[in-house]
This record gives sequence, structure tokens and C-alpha cells, in this order.
Amino acid sequence: QAETLESIKEVIKEKSVELLHLQFVDIEGILKHVTVTVEQLEQVVDGKIMFDGSSIKGFSPINKSDLYLQPDLNTFAVLPWSVEEGYSEARFICSVKTPTGDDFEGDPRNVLKKTVEKAADQGYSISVGPELEFFLFETDELGRPTQQTQDFAGYFEPSPHDNGEKVRLEIYRALKQMGFTIEASHHEVARGQHEINFKYNNALSAADLATTYKWVVKTIAKKFGLHATFMPKPIAGENGSGMHVNISLFDNEKQANAFYDETDSRQLSEKAYQFIAGLIKNVKNFVAVTNPLINSYKRLVPGYEAPCYIAWSASNRSALIRIPATRGAGTRVEIRCPDPSANPYLAFALIASAGLDGVNNKLVTPEEVTDDIFSMTSEELKMREIDHLPSSLEFALNAFEEGDIGKATLGEHVFGEYVELKRKEWDSFRTTVHGWELESYHTKF
Ligand code: GLN
Ligand code: MG
Ligand code: MG
Ligand code: MG
Repeated sequence: QAETLESIKEVIKEKSVELLHLQFVDIEGILKHVTVTVEQLEQVVDGKIMFDGSSIKGFSPINKSDLYLQPDLNTFAVLPWSVEEGYSEARFICSVKTPTGDDFEGDPRNVLKKTVEKAADQGYSISVGPELEFFLFETDELGRPTQQTQDFAGYFEPSPHDNGEKVRLEIYRALKQMGFTIEASHHEVARGQHEINFKYNNALSAADLATTYKWVVKTIAKKFGLHATFMPKPIAGENGSGMHVNISLFDNEKQANAFYDETDSRQLSEKAYQFIAGLIKNVKNFVAVTNPLINSYKRLVPGYEAPCYIAWSASNRSALIRIPATRGAGTRVEIRCPDPSANPYLAFALIASAGLDGVNNKLVTPEEVTDDIFSMTSEELKMREIDHLPSSLEFALNAFEEGDIGKATLGEHVFGEYVELKRKEWDSFRTTVHGWELESYHTKF
């Protein structure tokens, strides 16, 4: 909803808001905030609140560390769990500005804003509907997460097997009060795994919503003495957590979904096919961002409804790109590799510009793959020219640095900082001796 300063002041009065949290994310999409009193509302709205950017991962060097927060009024929300008689707290999501008032190029939200503006120049609005899965784990007496899932239920199972029902209900209520339109909620395939779906939105709002969702899920879970994690593969041998991204272009001139064409055999427009082709062409070069962790690549293995091959299909869930059956205004493309540990601002920016690359260069889609890709032999895959996604963060980073899409979309600053951060992560992992190695080699050799 479009908020104005006046409507915000009304809510502040009505809900007795006393504290304001000014939020933004670092390069990994981790939420940060500084809290000010409501008396400073005018300064807040004028973008006068300053912070030290050198302490934020991927932000600025120590000699240029003063940065400012410019709240987006539309992100104003009272925190449902803070509300008491005569007291409450609210938050704004902010864009980060330099002392000269320009958009700070290291702010992931600004990166996505730029991508959205570029698409608008070409006549398109981008709609995004992400689906974030998560796990609930029990905690120990000190409140630390254990390896014990909260329940042993499976896909769509109701109570009494599903112990997460009450937690999901609380999460749903909190999200709704914060302005989310919730569409569905269910137990997922793995024990302790859940998903709550919210309605698609414009790309920037969708990234704000995804960020807020992760925060709310973790906050409410904690109130139940549980640990919620968006780590992509917390349990080997079980389904991992994905963040499927549903995306479509809206043609601003024709005022219609640009992916829908009723005359086509699949009722998809030429632009939809080109967009898919753009995703297929660029995906290898951006998974380092949509699948940012070493652990991400343990999810992208055959047999767990997560993709590992680069193919598209109208319905096949083993494919990387699927076209959900909805047509008309809801026509969209679903890309299934991203996981919820990704920074949604950077991930949506890269997915959108990859698709737009296909549209702008009129790329041609390869043939649809309707058979189960997981059961194909390597000869079959080779014959049908089905390529696979990078199988580790290292391979993904190599492809990220080799391709053009990363630097072009994220800009020099974020691209450089991201590569440096992730190379260090990979190096730390590579040089660590893990439990598996000791178990397999220590006594045998
Ligand atoms: N958990 C699966 C994944 O990793 C998705 C399962 C589903 O939503 N059907 O992507
Ligand atoms: Mg789903
Ligand atoms: Mg799901
Ligand atoms: Mg899905």
C-alpha cells in the first residue's frame, strides 16, 4: 500500500509507536538495523540518520565510511510482537545514501533499484513471487540450535504429525499484520520443513518482503523456543530448502502481462521464450549469487526436487525452469535453483537481467525437456545437449567471474566485494579438515 507521512503519523499515534528500526541488508542479505526514538521521525524521513558503513560486510572502506539511511515509506510496518498497551515498535526498510545524497553503490537494494529502472526504460515492470522454504529445529537448554527437527511429518501432513502448525499460524498472523498477502501455508517434504507463500509483487517490494519474511519466521520461531533456518541443506539425505522465484514482465505500454499469448501452442509469448532463453544462457554465471553457500551445492543434487541440469519444461519439476500452469495475467516463469540463503535483492536483479538479456537479444530457447532428467544417463544428457549447473561454490565463482552478467548487473563495487568474500569462504572450507575426512581416512590409511 502507498504510505504517506500523514498516514504513517496516524498509525504511530494510534499504535503508540515509540521506537523506529531503520533496516537495510549487507552484501549477504543479512538484515541490519539501527533503532531511534519516534521523536526523530522528521530527521528519519529526511534521510538524516547516519551510520558507519565500514562495519557492514561488503560496504565501504574505513576512510569513506559515513553513510545515510533513506527510508522507503511503503515499507513502514508496526512489529506485531512488540505491541503492548500504550507501546509498540515499527520499522522502515531503507536505501543507503552517500554524504552527497547519491545512491550508495554498495547497497544491494540500490542494485535492484537500478535493474528495475533499466527494465522500466525498456517498457517493462518486473513482478516477482518468491517461495521460501525453511526448517524448524529444537533448541537445547541454552537456546542453541540442535540437529533435532521439531517434527517428523512430511508433505502436506496435518496435525498431530505436523508440530509446526501453531508456529506457522503465528508467523502467518505476524506477516499479515505487517501487510503481507498470504496465499498458502503447508508442511513441506522433509521432517521439520515448512513453507508459507505470499503474493507476488514488484521486484523491489518482493525483495523487501522476502527479507522481512526471513526475519519474521526466525523471530516467531524463537518465541516458541525453536530455531528456524534458511540454510539450504541442513540434513543430508532429506529435501533441502529452495527459494523458487516466479517472475514475469509486464508490458507498461500494452498494460498486459508480456509473457502471455493465447495464440501460441503453450500460450506463451515470444518474449516469454526469449526470457527463458536468457535465463538458460546466463544461469551458470549467476548461481554464485542465487546459491551463495558451500552448502547450497549439497541441495543441487539429483533426487530431491531441486534442479541440477539446465533445462526448461512446462511442468517437469526436475527441470531448472518450469512454467506454472496459470495463464493470462498470471503467466510466469519459475526458476527453481535459488535457495533462501541468497540475498534476494541481488538474486532478483540477476535473474531479471538474465531474462531481459534474452529478450533484448532475441535469444532462442532450446527444446523443452518433458522427460525426467534425473533418470537420464550421461550419454542421453550429452546427446540432448543438457548441461549441468556448477556443482560447487568454487565452480560457480569461476563462472561468475567469467560471465558478463555479474559485473554488469551488480556493478564494480558489489561484484568485487562479493567475489572477495566468497573466495575467502571457499578457501576456509577447502583448507579445513572435516569430520567426513577423518571418518573415511584416519584409520584406513
Ligand atoms: N524443497 C525443494 C527444493 O529444494 C522444492 C520442493 C517443492 O516445493 N516442491 O527446491
Ligand atoms: Mg511452493
Ligand atoms: Mg515448496
Ligand atoms: Mg515452486
